[in-house]
Amino acid sequence: MNDNAAHPLKLFNSLSRQMEELVPVHPGEARVYTCGPTVYNYPHIGNMRAYVFADLLGRTLSWKGYRLTHVINITDVGHLTDDADDGEDKLEKMAAEKAQSIWDIAKHYTEAYWQDIKALNIRQPAHWSIATDYVPAMIEYAKGIAKKHCYELESGLYFDVSTVGNYGTLARASTDDGEGRIDTVEGKRNAADFAIWRKTPLGEKRQMEWDSPWGKGAPGWHLECSVMSEALLGLPFDIHTGGIDHREIHHPNEIAQNQAHSCSDHSGAKIWMHNNFLIDRAGKISKSSREFLRLQLLIGKGIHPLAYRLMCLQAHYRSELEFAWENLIAAQTRLKRMVMGAERLAEKADGKTEIVGHPALLQLREKFDAALCEDLNSSKCLPLLEELLALKKVPAEQRLMLLSDMDTVLGLELMSLRRSELRVRPIDAKIDEADIETKLDQRQKAKSEKDFATADSIRNELTAKGVELMDGDPLRWEWRIEI
Ligand code: AMP
Ligand code: ZN
Repeated sequence: MNDNAAHPLKLFNSLSRQMEELVPVHPGEARVYTCGPTVYNYPHIGNMRAYVFADLLGRTLSWKGYRLTHVINITDVGHLTDDADDGEDKLEKMAAEKAQSIWDIAKHYTEAYWQDIKALNIRQPAHWSIATDYVPAMIEYAKGIAKKHCYELESGLYFDVSTVGNYGTLARASTDDGEGRIDTVEGKRNAADFAIWRKTPLGEKRQMEWDSPWGKGAPGWHLECSVMSEALLGLPFDIHTGGIDHREIHHPNEIAQNQAHSCSDHSGAKIWMHNNFLIDRAGKISKSSREFLRLQLLIGKGIHPLAYRLMCLQAHYRSELEFAWENLIAAQTRLKRMVMGAERLAEKADGKTEIVGHPALLQLREKFDAALCEDLNSSKCLPLLEELLALKKVPAEQRLMLLSDMDTVLGLELMSLRRSELRVRPIDAKIDEADIETKLDQRQKAKSEKDFATADSIRNELTAKGVELMDGDPLRWEWRIEI
């Protein structure tokens, strides 16, 4: 039996708004689908919170001993500028603005997204499913449900949400609430009806268009996730994830399609999970926020990407998380403490492999498992890891092994990160580290000789260069460059 099977894994199901124990569709396996990015622009760090959460879920499923199949899609067609059906395709719009081909735009931003995925130590899913690869399958799927569930308008093929049972349960909305909830396209039967095929208007040519029984055009955004999740995971599968905004429109629409295609009332996934937003004082972080908060911007200011990962793990995924530079720097300090603890342990360990059998460690592992099984309570796991680092009188090898196990879930790279990588040092800072260290030595010498005037003048000189001195810092951090 798996060591970590002590507690049943309970997850909050947005569909029932309750905690539910995971009972996999296929024993021993976990099949998970995560709504991926729309690759018309760089992802912001709020978007990346959604993938840190999905990664924590995947790692927890592995910790619990499930064979994981994880799918994340890449939306390179179909997502409109607003969630109603009369906006423009986000990729078409960006391609026109930049005078580039959609394919180049999609490639560029997909690669940027994958770069962030790697930097955040998010594990590779079994499949990155690319929407445009599935357009023929989407047409077949739409053909299968068109007769019973759809109707045609001049602008496309629309799904009639009144043809399936309990539309909108996930959003706690009904067909009647649709008014005002989604702008209506002229001729829609219900306000919440949505396009599953968007026809290219007569006389126009889109960069991305396919022939279909409803004329040349492109699929609606919601269609891709139903088609790809069913194709790669089978229906029903275990868990579907996304940001909380998807709970309102995108996922209810996926559910309606799943119900239509499977001719059942089943939503298609047993558990629907949603991460809450990363916000700042002005509200939800978005691509149009005052400062476009990309992970690369953080890295440029000298923040380690795993400090952002830790900041996410410090909050429960269902809580809003406020972004502030101070919080991020505090997370980096916490990460550095952990890394130093791991370095000390590794120095003490004699390299022999041991079984983690010490009662104090077994108890910690059990508590760690319990916290994870309580709807992925990572914020409770972190102090347990810190407790482990502080435990004296337990063989270092055993502690190191448990630390490494815990880190397979948290993904903070504690076994390989070095504290020197965690100094806040903006990439463009024109300062030579060796020079700072020399100045610090000179200042130390001046202080020990009670030459406070020289010590102060060195401090002032460094402050003028943006170097903040941190006297008496127990982490031996000693200085950092202001950001
Ligand atoms: P998009 O690329 O816009 O389709 O979004 C990708 C993912 O990021 C989706 O799961 C969104 O729900 C999620 N998301 C968008 N904004 C935020 C935010 N500020 N905080 C957390 N998740 C977000
Ligand atoms: Zn989706």
